[in-house]
Amino acid sequence: MKKYKHLFGPVPSRRFGRSLGIDLTPYKTCSFDCIFCQLGRTTTKTLERRDYVPIKEVTGELDEWIHSGGEADYITLSGSGEPTLHARFGEVIEFVRAASSIPVVLLTNGSALGIPEVRAAAAKADVVKVSLSAGDEASFNYINRPHPALNLAGLIAGMQTFRQEFDGRLWLEIFMIWGVNSTQKEVAQLAEWARSVHPDRIQLNTAVRPPAEGFVRPMPRQKLQSLTVGFDPPAEIIAEFSSDITSASKANEETILAMLQRRPCTEKDISDALGLHLNEVAKYLGKLQRTGRIETPAIRHNPYYICRSNDICSVSRN
Ligand code: SF4
Repeated sequence: MKKYKHLFGPVPSRRFGRSLGIDLTPYKTCSFDCIFCQLGRTTTKTLERRDYVPIKEVTGELDEWIHSGGEADYITLSGSGEPTLHARFGEVIEFVRAASSIPVVLLTNGSALGIPEVRAAAAKADVVKVSLSAGDEASFNYINRPHPALNLAGLIAGMQTFRQEFDGRLWLEIFMIWGVNSTQKEVAQLAEWARSVHPDRIQLNTAVRPPAEGFVRPMPRQKLQSLTVGFDPPAEIIAEFSSDITSASKANEETILAMLQRRPCTEKDISDALGLHLNEVAKYLGKLQRTGRIETPAIRHNPYYICRSNDICSVSRN
């Protein structure tokens, strides 16, 4: 299978079926540095919008993938940071829409939606998924660790304005962290903000993949479930607690286990060796941790993952 520089997957996902990812920023360029980020800590925290990767390379790869019969349920702008920081992300969406009938999803933290040209570019997508995790400014600073020029009021105002202008599907993801934003007061505030944005869907997620900071704990499924009715529209749970796996993801998990059986590896080691995007590696490591097949590293920043034991890691090497 051909390996691309800016495309990854298609990744099997409960939310998006098989999703082809487009990475528009170098690792890890974001306006936030969320404590729960599955990509680790932000190395370049910025609001600067520029051509982080050459757009011609991205559209060239997309053209090749589409014309080689590439199939996916969605094409998703996500990757190694915040995609709206790329000054020309709207052109990528336009390209996909002209060249393919596959719907385009933009995954964004919403921090640039206060900028009219960003809203205009984002509105070209079929689905825009924004995120919210904090009910007040103090919580925003603690959880999302944003660029100093950002605040929660501006973030929500940007989302509200975008909703007024955007006819497509707007989904709002709320990331819940056990003991951090799970108090009744904070959940009530999150529900109020969510209602004010008028999303088509509200999705609750929690830390089921390795987070940037080791103290981040996932919210138990029953607790998450009890929150769903407090949102309008009622929220759905998108955290992948389930152990259901496709054959493609099963094969990748076994390959990662085989690597870890030979030696401890970081996410980056696995990503480089297997040609998987860090997003995909985090997904598989999360599943392997939840099923007890690998150990959770004590140090979260750039940790080494190890097999729990050779018995547990009895994987096929054929
Ligand atoms: S979770 Fe998203 S918004 Fe937060 S630091 Fe990671 S990439 Fe940025």
